[in-house]
Amino acid sequence: MRLEQALRSGRHLSTADPTEAELLIVNTCGFIDASKDESISVIRDLDSSRRKGQQLYVVGCLTEIAEAEVRATIPNVDATFGAEQWDAVAASVGPASANFDIPQPEFTNIKQPSAYLKISDGCDRPCTFCIIPTIKGAMHSDTVSRLIAEAKAHARDGTRELVLVAQDSTAYGEDQGDREGLATLLEQLSEAVPDLPWIRLMYAYPGRVTRLLAETMARLPNVVPYLDMPLQHASPSVLRRMKRPTVNKSRESINHIRKAIPDVVLRSTFIVGFPGETDSEFEELLTFIEEQRFDHIGAFTYSAQKGTPAATLLEQVPEAVKIERYGRLMELAQSISHDQNREMIGQEMKVLVESAEPTTSADGSPVVIGRTYRDAPEVDGLAFVKGEFKPGSMVDVRVEGALPYDLLCSPLDFHKP
Ligand code: SF4
Repeated sequence: MRLEQALRSGRHLSTADPTEAELLIVNTCGFIDASKDESISVIRDLDSSRRKGQQLYVVGCLTEIAEAEVRATIPNVDATFGAEQWDAVAASVGPASANFDIPQPEFTNIKQPSAYLKISDGCDRPCTFCIIPTIKGAMHSDTVSRLIAEAKAHARDGTRELVLVAQDSTAYGEDQGDREGLATLLEQLSEAVPDLPWIRLMYAYPGRVTRLLAETMARLPNVVPYLDMPLQHASPSVLRRMKRPTVNKSRESINHIRKAIPDVVLRSTFIVGFPGETDSEFEELLTFIEEQRFDHIGAFTYSAQKGTPAATLLEQVPEAVKIERYGRLMELAQSISHDQNREMIGQEMKVLVESAEPTTSADGSPVVIGRTYRDAPEVDGLAFVKGEFKPGSMVDVRVEGALPYDLLCSPLDFHKP
């Protein structure tokens, strides 16, 4: 969004259709090998399909840490920029020659059911596997007034869900000396956009979900009972090597949020195959997952990031072992997710419709795709709803079926004449 704002000030407009664009910009991620591969594959695809005269820029974390690699892999890229260099990108593009005025909304006029709100950037944590603090630098919080203005702009545009993101959302305000800054921000956002029904919190840090934060989330009507808290591991010795908070800190945060919101939906992320991870350390992780029964789990196999302390550890786990452990962890995660979804059958809830057009079910009837509050965009499951509804609609449904990650739903009035 910041990039779009910078380009708009030069009277450039964005388009969702790459074939219409004069300039293609790929904002990359270099956090782990999978995101690097995905970034490279998108750049390759755009490069091979672009028409003559269409420029291709690559920006973001990957070019920050591996510009030479990007250029060697895709030599035709026209320009590269590091993370957050939005003004430099806009300056390089220059003003548009178009002889017309482009409306300059304060933030955006893109209609979208769900939008991300980045509340801070950078990270001060010492995780030994992570290159982000090196790329992004120290954590800096955005101002409450700017975030409220952005949230209001989204609400005006019809956005129904705001997803709060950061490298570490629970650090919000710490750079200003306020260790409960996130609770205050949630309170102010909730009040500023009372008609925006879902505010969702991602990327909490274990040990930093305080009682006050949990109770604030429980109290605010438009903050959804959902929390994403990447834990990365649960074996005390692996967490020590990762320089992550102890498993007791994780339990403390989970207890705070479950006490304040007993039916909270919890998502977490884990790394398997961290250097030196033994069979028994991996079993400790599985036991912890079984015990906590997270609603959603994401997992990665460890990939060494050049420039991080963990990359120099000698006992790298063989790839085949990582893959086998990943498979076992995801099998467990899937069975828990399926059980949780089965428990939803018969419940009534709201679905936020996201699909632009209905698709068709096996019997040929129309179906739209959306999510309940239990699922975050892009990382969790989906809800399939019978009928035709516009994107951004909040449909009252009854859950009628459960897939491992997704829900099958009917609108409440679906069977009425
Ligand atoms: S908290 Fe997250 S972003 Fe920060 S260093 Fe650890 S893994 Fe990286």
